[in-house]
Amino acid sequence: MRYFSTRNSKTANLASEAILQGIAEDGGLFVDPQIRTRKVDLKSLLPCNYEQLANAILPIFLPDYSASDIEACVKHAYGSSFEHPDITPIVKVGTDYVLELFHGPTAAFKDVALSILPHFLTTAKEHLKDEREVIILTATSGDTGKAALAGFQDIPNTKIIVFYPKYGVSTIQEWQMITSKGNNVIVVGIEGDFDDAQRGVKEIFAKQLSNQKVQLSSANSINIGRLIPQVIYYFHSYLTLCRNHEITMHDLVNFAVPTGNFGNILAAYYAKLLGLPIHKLICASNQNHVLYDFIKTGQYNRNHSLHKTISPSMDILVSSNLERFLFELSDHDYSYISQLMNQLQSTGQYQVTDHLHNKIQDVLYPFYSNDEATKTAIRECFLSHQYLMDPHTAIAYQAAKDYQLQAESKIPTVIVSTASPFKFASDVYKALFGEGEHNDPFELMELLAFKTNTKIPASLAHLKDNQILHRDVIPADQMEIFVRTLLEERR
Ligand SMILES: *Cc1c(COP(=O)(O)O)cnc(C)c1O
Repeated sequence: MRYFSTRNSKTANLASEAILQGIAEDGGLFVDPQIRTRKVDLKSLLPCNYEQLANAILPIFLPDYSASDIEACVKHAYGSSFEHPDITPIVKVGTDYVLELFHGPTAAFKDVALSILPHFLTTAKEHLKDEREVIILTATSGDTGKAALAGFQDIPNTKIIVFYPKYGVSTIQEWQMITSKGNNVIVVGIEGDFDDAQRGVKEIFAKQLSNQKVQLSSANSINIGRLIPQVIYYFHSYLTLCRNHEITMHDLVNFAVPTGNFGNILAAYYAKLLGLPIHKLICASNQNHVLYDFIKTGQYNRNHSLHKTISPSMDILVSSNLERFLFELSDHDYSYISQLMNQLQSTGQYQVTDHLHNKIQDVLYPFYSNDEATKTAIRECFLSHQYLMDPHTAIAYQAAKDYQLQAESKIPTVIVSTASPFKFASDVYKALFGEGEHNDPFELMELLAFKTNTKIPASLAHLKDNQILHRDVIPADQMEIFVRTLLEERR
């Protein structure tokens, strides 16, 4: 099995090469064109716990990793660093289910992938006998940054640089990042938004600055090593529902996914291709509803100004992983994908064929919401079910309700929860109790816990006592210089 770029059928890469490189040389994303021919035997996996399931599913994507390598990666990642024994527990809320992905070391769903990616990477280097230092470049809309910093902290022979939009993340998110420890971590604020940071990183990759001593790689979901681990929890949630007799094996379910860069929902689609009985993938967006418009009309158009919302991890206009989805649905039409992405680059938009548009609509149901409705959803869900949701999750919750109403569907729906409500404590508090005299986010975190009788995750509870260790802020167009300077120092 080999990974190919979405933009040409020529270069075939091993999984370890794809993970180490992060992005293909032609700017495309690594994909496995044979994925739809691989099938997972659900029945045999029914008794598996999370780690066992990971050990069963990961080899499909990583055929050049030995079973013992994979087991070691899984153990490092999930052996002891998650606060919940099920890793990704599922909770019944009313008639729906919530898949909680936020019990990792930084209270964000990105922990699930970023706890294991560094181990995939160091294993890849051993396979390839590549002794260069790896520098991980990461653009973050908030959560990736901290999860990547935690995952790579003190991993030998790696360095991680995180670029975040200085005024585009929550106070708690920023505080989590700028207090990061580790002798190999660098955190830099960008005077710009997430798209500026992501574009900056992609441009640095395009310049191919890797040299004899240093390999640049990515911890963003453009790296296939980020997506692969996310497939596991879709299976895990489904099998848990079977074991709990909430559904019967092979019943269809929907997943409602709060979507930004399209990585999480793409992992769900990959699970579907592998045989997980998924009916609809409900794609939930905020006021930045580029994806909603695309699914409705077949036209992708990023020429909008970015709205800042209370769900900042979804404040994105260019959803990178859509490229992988279109690749699969276009039956692997490399040149067509290449053409669309060139159009996006030069004009900021593209229109897909009617045929492709219909296929997209078969898989995805689009939804978007604004901040007011999201706050109302947080309040109503808490009042009806005593269940506390963060704003990202609350958008998926609304999306699930909207779909059920529109489709008059009784198919069970799993709402994917991507962050602890305490990561966005200020907005969650205000949604529940209104604007008050309190403004300090740390104080609000404690008040929220007290008034709702819920527990602050351990990783957030002591955050305010941590020291600020990173203070760099640079203009977005200085990112390349920043990285070049660092590489110069290594010659
Ligand atoms: C990253 C993130 C998302 C979006 O996930 P994608 O894989 O980028 O679509 C949603 N919610 C939260 C809290 C996130 O951190």
